[in-house]
Amino acid sequence: MNTQEHIDLAEKFGAHNYAPLPVVLEKAQGVWVTDVDGKRYMDMLSSYSALNFGHQHPRLVKALTDQLGRVVVTSRAFYNDQYPHFCKELAEFCGMEVVLPMNTGAEAVETSIKTSRKWAYDIKGVAPDQAEIICFENNFHGRTTTIISFSTDPGARTGFGPYTPGFKLAPFGDISALRKLITPNTAAILIEPIQGEGGIIVPPAGYLQQVRELCTQNNVLLVMDEVQTGLCRTGRRFACQYENIVPDMFVLGKALGGGLLPVSAIASTQKIMQVMTPGIHGSTFGGMPLSCAVARQALRVLVDEGLTERALEMGNYFMQQLRNLNSHHVREIRGKGLLIGMEIKKESGIGKKFVKALKDQGVLCKDTHEQVIRFAPPLIITRGEIDWAMERIQTVMCGDPVMAH
Ligand SMILES: *Cc1c(COP(=O)(O)O)cnc(C)c1O
Repeated sequence: MNTQEHIDLAEKFGAHNYAPLPVVLEKAQGVWVTDVDGKRYMDMLSSYSALNFGHQHPRLVKALTDQLGRVVVTSRAFYNDQYPHFCKELAEFCGMEVVLPMNTGAEAVETSIKTSRKWAYDIKGVAPDQAEIICFENNFHGRTTTIISFSTDPGARTGFGPYTPGFKLAPFGDISALRKLITPNTAAILIEPIQGEGGIIVPPAGYLQQVRELCTQNNVLLVMDEVQTGLCRTGRRFACQYENIVPDMFVLGKALGGGLLPVSAIASTQKIMQVMTPGIHGSTFGGMPLSCAVARQALRVLVDEGLTERALEMGNYFMQQLRNLNSHHVREIRGKGLLIGMEIKKESGIGKKFVKALKDQGVLCKDTHEQVIRFAPPLIITRGEIDWAMERIQTVMCGDPVMAH
């Protein structure tokens, strides 16, 4: 079947909850993917940062296949021989003490909400059902009914009510507005250190430090959603480390599964995680041996291949190259490490137009919030591969042909 036949089949039998670019991928290796017509593209999205290691990383594939031949699913009714090591190694990687595994990012966010509320009742002493969590305008934390309840994106929210109460919204980057929202019932502040889906929005320097201080002063948990920014993507192990702060809880996902499986977790302190007791929360597949084996290897690859340093070096290079383009379509280029947003001027049209033209040139990326194109290639990308992409990006951003689309 060719591209159009696959698309027709997908549109006929699949729900239309996405509007993908018209490219049907069949194979992948490293930063490269191949479609069913044999055309090769560079993957500059990395499945929203799930593929920090690139596609088919040999060590990760080996960890997966080795574990496949041993034991895959045990449920948490029993222990397995991967889970204890996964918890220890992830806790150490994060500088935390205790880990609770789930599968998807949204499930980990839900877990952080439940843990924060339980902590507020059991330890902080908030009256039953009064706990509040402060989130931010323009956030993205996933797609569950509770999570979309505190989304400000009409597309994510409208039509899915009634909404879960207990959340307040602060403008991202404004510390005095945030301060005013804190009450004795505030359990936690849930924040992305850089808003990813929101358009690669980097908060003002010093802001996360101020948020940390605010939390400490008011006995409020700082919950850092690093599902997209974490695990070396931004040129630090965690993006919040740019401000030398330590949150009370990390929320992790995406790259934690090595680009092979959905694996997520929260990592926190013993003092907080003690509120989670047998039977009150869980997941059939969370902590399964296959996931744990792959995630353990993923953490090792990040360290062994120096992917933090690599993301920083390649990110700085890539960002400089993008700035050097001086394209008259571009309003701003921003980001950290290999999480880069290129904002298109409104008068030049929507980002999707450029994304389609880039696809035709062999560079796969995705627009977010209409005007922003996100570049987030695998962290293993080389200078030569960035140069290859830059030639195509230059053609699209500095040539006229794009206007024909
Ligand atoms: C992608 C994402 C999530 C949700 O992860 P899923 O695996 O899609 O449920 C949560 N938080 C952030 C910051 C994300 O980027």
